[in-house]
Amino acid sequence: MTVETLGRESSWEGVHAVVGGLGVSGFAAADTLQHLGASVIALDDGDDDGLREKATLLEILGVDVRLGPGSTASLPDGIDLVVTSPGWGPSTPLLLEAAGRGVPVWGEVELAWRLRGEGAAPWLAVTGTNGKTTTVQMLEAILRAEGLNALAVGNVGTPVLEAVMNPEPFDVLAVELSSYQLHWSSSISAQASAVLNVAPDHLDWHGGLDAYTADKGRIYHNTQLACVYNVQDPETERLVEEADVIEGCRAIGFTLGIPAPGMIGLVDDAIADRAFIAGRLSSAAELGTIHDLAPVEGETPAPHNVANALAAAALARAHGVTPRAVRDGLRSFRPDAHRIAEVARTDGVRWVDDSKATNTHAAQASLQSFEHVVWVAGGLAKGASFDDLVIATRDRLRAAVLIGRDRDLIAQALARHAPDVPVVEVDTGETDPMDRVVEVAASLAREGDTVLLAPGAASMDQFRNYGARGDSFAAAVQRLRDKS
Ligand code: ADP
Repeated sequence: MTVETLGRESSWEGVHAVVGGLGVSGFAAADTLQHLGASVIALDDGDDDGLREKATLLEILGVDVRLGPGSTASLPDGIDLVVTSPGWGPSTPLLLEAAGRGVPVWGEVELAWRLRGEGAAPWLAVTGTNGKTTTVQMLEAILRAEGLNALAVGNVGTPVLEAVMNPEPFDVLAVELSSYQLHWSSSISAQASAVLNVAPDHLDWHGGLDAYTADKGRIYHNTQLACVYNVQDPETERLVEEADVIEGCRAIGFTLGIPAPGMIGLVDDAIADRAFIAGRLSSAAELGTIHDLAPVEGETPAPHNVANALAAAALARAHGVTPRAVRDGLRSFRPDAHRIAEVARTDGVRWVDDSKATNTHAAQASLQSFEHVVWVAGGLAKGASFDDLVIATRDRLRAAVLIGRDRDLIAQALARHAPDVPVVEVDTGETDPMDRVVEVAASLAREGDTVLLAPGAASMDQFRNYGARGDSFAAAVQRLRDKS
């Protein structure tokens, strides 16, 4: 049975599908396919309470759920389609087996695209190594300020499939796509799409930087109206040049500099659109100012968040949103937790939680947002090198407090490129180091400094996830304040 031609209105009876991995998107895929009439087998190697709860729900619908070690070892017979978890890499044995047998492998996002109905909401799609969540949330705020029924979906949390199958249709979707999700997608045709930046991350999954970059670039394929790229990151422009787009689609740059025609950028503090106005060769439209984004009255936002706002504005303008809605949306936007969140001020020192800076590219952007920093870093480095980061930010570093399994890597980079910066390593094994961290940081910080948790590494050696790491930092700062 071929599934390539099936859509929302088709009969899926007789289709035998395997859903690999019962995460958020796997659950949505199994649920949807079963509702459409397919016979579904859902597989997951895990077997915890959360999975068992999902399994019970799916079993009531008639899904054959197989949990526990070995469940995903091989592909059952007679399968017409595999919907894979974004976490499964290309060399997962079951997926290799599917490829060998000629069985199509889709991600949940690909399935969602194929199940859009006639006249369904267009997609404004965002990828990049860093800034995806922030950008789709800014975009959602802008679209809503225009009065549109819009939702941020995808990697940000709500599966795209859920939004696509929602009985109340949306006007437009702001879709965050990870490199994994893009790897398993082939036919998406966004109305407008953006790659915010490309820096090494998740290389083990993709098998190298070229493969990772190419997967990011897939977002541009078949784009209808606008491919948005980062003028400061030439790799993103190259990806647009290589993409096979719908005829008439334009390349639109965003820049922290003055925009040329065809770009959105900054003229002093104003966000200037020279891409979506009639007289763009000689003039610009103001879409607001960077102060519309300021977290606190009178403060300037971090440059990387201005870049995210410019990208969101470009996507929204491609959709036809008014300048006023861009400004109002940016004014109403509030960042998610653990993204440059100020947790306290003590004796002239700011304490900032950017626990979401889980790779070196993010940590660099974060450090460059502050003048003098006591840097709290470390965790699982995922094979990254810290040399470039230290070279780019050493003039700002008052001191470094290092935690986690790979802290020595950072210590070595600091010793090589910033030997004068004091470094304290806090070794608490796998237990929470934050009380000791904030105590040390407080002793190193001077008035006017920022103590910044921007680890440049993943958290799972010492914490449940980056959120728990940020919460623990904030709680330890609070205890320190209570003591003094
Ligand atoms: P993602 O969804 O891509 O992980 P987020 O919006 O959650 O991105 O931001 C993650 C972290 O990346 C932030 O905490 C910040 O440190 C950093 N960051 C955000 N935007 C950018 C950007 N445009 N360039 C570089 N780093 C960024």
